[in-house]
Amino acid sequence: VTADDRVIHICFHGIGTPGRELEPGEAGYWLNVDSFRRILDELATLSPVQLSFDDSNASDAEIALPELVQRGLRADFFVIAGRLGTPGSLDEDGVRELLRNGMGIGSHGMHHRPWQRLDADTSHDEFVTAREKLAVLVGSDIDTAACPLGRYDRRSLRDLRRLGYRRVFTSDRRPARRDAWLQPRYSLQRGDTAAAVREIVLGRPSLSRRIWSAGVGLVKRWR
Ligand SMILES: [Zn+2]
Repeated sequence: VTADDRVIHICFHGIGTPGRELEPGEAGYWLNVDSFRRILDELATLSPVQLSFDDSNASDAEIALPELVQRGLRADFFVIAGRLGTPGSLDEDGVRELLRNGMGIGSHGMHHRPWQRLDADTSHDEFVTAREKLAVLVGSDIDTAACPLGRYDRRSLRDLRRLGYRRVFTSDRRPARRDAWLQPRYSLQRGDTAAAVREIVLGRPSLSRRIWSAGVGLVKRWR
């Protein structure tokens, strides 16, 4: 992977105070507004980096959008079709507002189920029905998807490819190749700082990560 091929995807979830009951483990992915602003300030100075937001929380339009616009940043928003208009989530007007401001819209499926071991009906619901619902709303084809909970298997990837998705985004915490069909992303977590995000983008492991890696190296050598 040459420097020109390499792109770092940074993925956000909710910002601020959730307006709905969170899923188990989800709270760890919500950032407070101040950290979010500091991280965006940092990201605005870095390239090549691409931003995305998963889960279609109401904070996408209410908090993230104005902060992105203010900094001249663009992002892709992966929408859970089955949650549109429910409390705490984006509604149709929110999605249109994102579009009007130049943001991208992709699918995050219908009901935020892991895309693993899906039966035919569930797979159709997640990959076809959800995408159609979003396409009607945005008035154009939806050809990108992000895997809920970062989970997928060979069959779901095969189905997504067969159905013509142009890019599929995961959360596998490594740099992506610009032209690859499968695009790994780094999901930020509560407590991530602007400095930590800068290290991810620049490809320099943080001190704690270096120590951890050295430890793993030692363990491997002892085996
Ligand atoms: Zn999600």
